[in-house]
Amino acid sequence: MKVVFSDTQRAHDPQMFLSSGAPKPCPEKPARIEALLSGVRKLDLPVIAPEDAGMAPIAAVHPARYLTFLQNIHDRWRLIDGASPEVIPNIHPGSRLDGYPKSAVGQAGFHMTDTSCPISGPTWGSAYASAQTAIHGAGLVLGGDKVAYALCRPPGHHCFPELAGGFCYLANSAIAARLLQQAGRKVAVLDVDLHHGNGTQGVFYEDPSVLTVSLHCHPERFYPFFWGYEGETGAGDGEGTNLNLCLERGAGDAPFLAALDRALDRITLWGADTLVLALGLDAFVGDPFAGLAVTTPGFSQIARAVAGLGLPTLIVQEGGYLCPELGDNLAAVLAEFM
Ligand code: ZN
Repeated sequence: MKVVFSDTQRAHDPQMFLSSGAPKPCPEKPARIEALLSGVRKLDLPVIAPEDAGMAPIAAVHPARYLTFLQNIHDRWRLIDGASPEVIPNIHPGSRLDGYPKSAVGQAGFHMTDTSCPISGPTWGSAYASAQTAIHGAGLVLGGDKVAYALCRPPGHHCFPELAGGFCYLANSAIAARLLQQAGRKVAVLDVDLHHGNGTQGVFYEDPSVLTVSLHCHPERFYPFFWGYEGETGAGDGEGTNLNLCLERGAGDAPFLAALDRALDRITLWGADTLVLALGLDAFVGDPFAGLAVTTPGFSQIARAVAGLGLPTLIVQEGGYLCPELGDNLAAVLAEFM
């Protein structure tokens, strides 16, 4: 199994976000990379840098005005007298069908769903490199690799086509899934992050050609709050191709594995021939978000079950925050695919 990773992903270093209205240090730190790489080293896996596939695969998911915004908003923000060092929105439209402003403040509110996706100078470069990491991983799978691991950071599954949020700027898993789908694969995305993969769901919600499945802590009382309910099954032509499985707060290995069984049955029934595993490790009992209680052996069981599908699989890193076991949890997952 090859591991794809770009050093450019280290530069993005978000400083703060608001949690229950209070400024807190952002947990999506560059140090996550070292922790995850420690898990990779434990298994002695080869790490390769992604080639630059350019903007086309990214633009297959994200509209041009959003990509322009991500690239230039920090420079524009710095021209505002007294503005914060990082781009953080303070106003949002009631609906994204409302008017599209020219103002930097207005566009920040339009394109950022919350305060946990601050943009600084290096953000675009790191987000672009993270997307290229997923794209390169998808290329490995298309080239015949049975499995590949894309160490993507910043993560991507909370990012919609033109809406950043929840530490995410480009929809890495969705970009990879779109690339695989355009190459003729029948793709399912399975998201096992603690949080609902709302952005990935949003990309494919009306698209019957990609199945999206997410297991997560119930959004009634947990981020992302407005998405992730079991009644969200897709819309239009995509009706029936989205599955959300909600777990009660604090759920451990057994309920997670039971929900995973349902997810895997659906993927098999649907006839997927390629899998994108959106791998969040924040369902861990010791993760700072403390939403679920999956253990390290639980991650092994989860991975064994997913690997049991026998599908060519691209594993894309999503969440999972600093705790002593982060690298071990990644190793526990990857070991089951070797
Ligand atoms: Zn998460």
